[in-house]
Amino acid sequence: MKIAFFSTKSYDKFYFEKYSSTSNYTFSYFETALNADTANLTIGYDAVCVFVNDKIDEKTIEILSKNEVKLIALRCAGFNNIDLKATQAHGIKVVRVPAYSPQSVAEHAVALILTLNRKTHKVYNRVREGNFSLENMTGFNLFGKTVGVVGTGKIGEAFANIMLGFGCKVIAFDIQKSEELIAKGVEYQSFDYLLSNADIISLHCPLNESTYHIFDESAFAKLKTGVMLINTSRGALIKTEDVIKALKNRKIGYLGIDVYEQEDKLFFKDLSESIIQDDLIQRLVSFPNVLVTPHQGFFTEEALTQIAVTTLKNITEFHENLSLTNEVRV
Ligand code: NAD
Repeated sequence: MKIAFFSTKSYDKFYFEKYSSTSNYTFSYFETALNADTANLTIGYDAVCVFVNDKIDEKTIEILSKNEVKLIALRCAGFNNIDLKATQAHGIKVVRVPAYSPQSVAEHAVALILTLNRKTHKVYNRVREGNFSLENMTGFNLFGKTVGVVGTGKIGEAFANIMLGFGCKVIAFDIQKSEELIAKGVEYQSFDYLLSNADIISLHCPLNESTYHIFDESAFAKLKTGVMLINTSRGALIKTEDVIKALKNRKIGYLGIDVYEQEDKLFFKDLSESIIQDDLIQRLVSFPNVLVTPHQGFFTEEALTQIAVTTLKNITEFHENLSLTNEVRV
């Protein structure tokens, strides 16, 4: 079976080569993203392996179908970048890695909170320059603060457990409640209640039609002034122009994002010698109370191992005509 691997980075190749060495699969590693312009690279391949910023829209899927690609193996959990109606229409199967290490993303959300709060990123640079002053470095105790979790699936649950360990009060909003979290003291509340009562809000719901721009001007108006907002889920949960306004008028006191609405043109690339054309990201990084990381929540050894192992298992199930454990359907 021949698999075209898109958006390849050195670490992808390292982990996939390590775990596929005993299989009969042939991987061709393309650095380019998969989209309608690059889809013709799939001539002669049976499957594609793709990541978060590959754009698998209707046009791309038509070309994949013409090239007789039968399987799209996502090496991530989210599948908002695939037109599932089109894959279904063309009989192309889609599989994903639903849970590779919820702790990796949950712990990264906590890293954003602690860094923004205790300003360790700023002190690191200050001390290197011989500045041992504490001016403007005041943080706050997490103990006793109210943390709002939007989406308490695998990652949201892992995050809620960590915050309970800090001694926070955890409130949550989800369309499905977790009895396990309720037993641990997590209170499910309405979205509006969460907005107006949380000191820290962390987003862990998927991006879909009902969550697109769930954090816009009207949501920001309901927040406690000075709230910390953390997004490690998908960029378009937050309307970027509106969050910039909320930072300018100080409604939002801290913003930590590992994902960004327009990240596909920026993230996973070294653009340090380029003139970045995206004025919104440049405005965001100019705020002293904003921390942007380039979609690295998943980036731990444990998660990369699990991604490779599960993706190979997904491909094997397809190859051997077995039922697909991790199939994504419309
Ligand atoms: P999951 O499916 O286990 O949980 C998602 C939760 O969101 C579910 O409990 C679901 O009921 C809830 N939900 C769905 N629609 C909702 C809505 N309208 N309002 C509130 N809650 C809603 O998913 P997960 O594994 O916890 O992953 C969550 C998200 O994290 C993924 O969709 C993905 O976008 C993101 N993610 C980011 C990274 C990263 O590297 N930053 C890595 C993996 C996943």
